[in-house]
Amino acid sequence: MKRYSVFAVAREALRYHQGWGRAWRSSEPKKKYEAIIIGAGGHGLATAYNLGKNHGLKNVAILEKGWLGGGNTGRNTTIIRSNYLQDASAAIYEKARSLYETMSQDLNYNVMFSPRGVMMLAQTQHEIRGYKRTAHANALQGVSTEFITPDRVKSLVPIINIDGPRYPVLGALWQPRGGTARHDAVAWGYARACSEMGMDVIQQCEVTGIRRQNGQVQGVETSKGSIDCEKLGIVVAGHTGVLADMAGFRMPIESVALQALVSEPIKPCMDVVVMANTVHGYMSQSDKGEMVIGGGADGFNNYTQRGSFHHVEETVRALIETFPIISRLKMLRWWGGIVDMTGDRSPILSTTPVKNIFINCGWGTGGFKAIPGSGWAMAELMAKGHSSLTEEFGLNRFKEGKFIDESVAAGVAH
Ligand SMILES: Cc1cc2nc3c(=O)[nH]c(=O)nc-3n(C[C@H](O)[C@H](O)[C@H](O)COP(=O)(O)OP(=O)(O)OC[C@H]3O[C@@H](n4cnc5c(N)ncnc54)[C@H](O)[C@@H]3O)c2cc1C
Repeated sequence: MKRYSVFAVAREALRYHQGWGRAWRSSEPKKKYEAIIIGAGGHGLATAYNLGKNHGLKNVAILEKGWLGGGNTGRNTTIIRSNYLQDASAAIYEKARSLYETMSQDLNYNVMFSPRGVMMLAQTQHEIRGYKRTAHANALQGVSTEFITPDRVKSLVPIINIDGPRYPVLGALWQPRGGTARHDAVAWGYARACSEMGMDVIQQCEVTGIRRQNGQVQGVETSKGSIDCEKLGIVVAGHTGVLADMAGFRMPIESVALQALVSEPIKPCMDVVVMANTVHGYMSQSDKGEMVIGGGADGFNNYTQRGSFHHVEETVRALIETFPIISRLKMLRWWGGIVDMTGDRSPILSTTPVKNIFINCGWGTGGFKAIPGSGWAMAELMAKGHSSLTEEFGLNRFKEGKFIDESVAAGVAH
């Protein structure tokens, strides 16, 4: 058996940690690629990874104007669930949730998936009806959820106050295999896997123009020069409208700031994710002990990637009734990201009016959970021109009125 000295092991451990910075080659662009993906968030990287892994397309570049995961992927509250109402949504979100179960093994990178269970509190009669309906739909879709009683809620989350004066807890929609994962690690793990397949992950490379000829994509203009490509995937979340404009078409989408905050770290006190949609706040406890709290989206369109005081106040005030212990917590920091919202609160994974340009956007306030499924489906769409998982999420649905209405499951939730 091969023996390693303590120094060799220490050196390897150090290399492994340095690998956070070295894991991917931040390359210089070549002149031409089979496919370019704009945006090194989770969805863009997962798309590239699946293009290589499932479809053998490895001459691929992922262009990022900032740094890996520096958009919404590194700013979200990491809730993973698949308890959506409509069949098309349940299919793609459950595909994603199931891929999260093995992602650390698949990427050989610990993404710290923690299927600790997600509950969505019912605090009005309307919510009870809505969540029971979703639980029945989920049973038919093969998604494991159940509607649970207030006593069961209390036994799962002892710190909760189920007798709040305004909004008592009347039950909850419970998904035991929902949970959280480490957001940066998801981006880093995919980036390393892409790099290992020979793809170029190019940071600090902003796309400033999209070249077309005879209705077909030719390439992109970037801050690092002009690059040709056969296929182009636009996967830029809150900047979708800007990139679509460069490609010469318009998108039915709006960009707004969404924010979140974390408290000082405290001892473990809550080992499930709780969402309270009526008062609009949700909370989980991170591995460091911080209470991770999600707030609302701005009520107006904007590109400000930062938080604002009034949302902090509203969110904390809303949660205190249900979680009185947080009234004594100090809040450490808060931040915002720009999310892209469609009218029916469902994503767009689609071909576009320009041949060989594909678009993936509209995940709004809840796309982290979808990353592995979205990447799987988007890669199939780009490689083959169709995918059973993306069929209903095409741009045509806005012309044909075939909306996938998830405003209850996704409108204000994550
Ligand atoms: C505060 C907050 C909380 C959230 N909570 C949850 C949650 O709990 N659960 C959940 O499932 N989802 C949540 N979300 C939503 C989730 O974060 C997003 O849906 C998801 O991360 C979108 O990933 P993406 O890869 O599409 O976009 P992003 O991660 O934003 O990546 C897009 C990338 O494109 C790059 N880009 C833009 N323009 C250009 C250009 N011209 N050239 C090159 N690159 C460009 C950007 O820099 C960015 O890195 C939350 C979002 C926020 C803001």
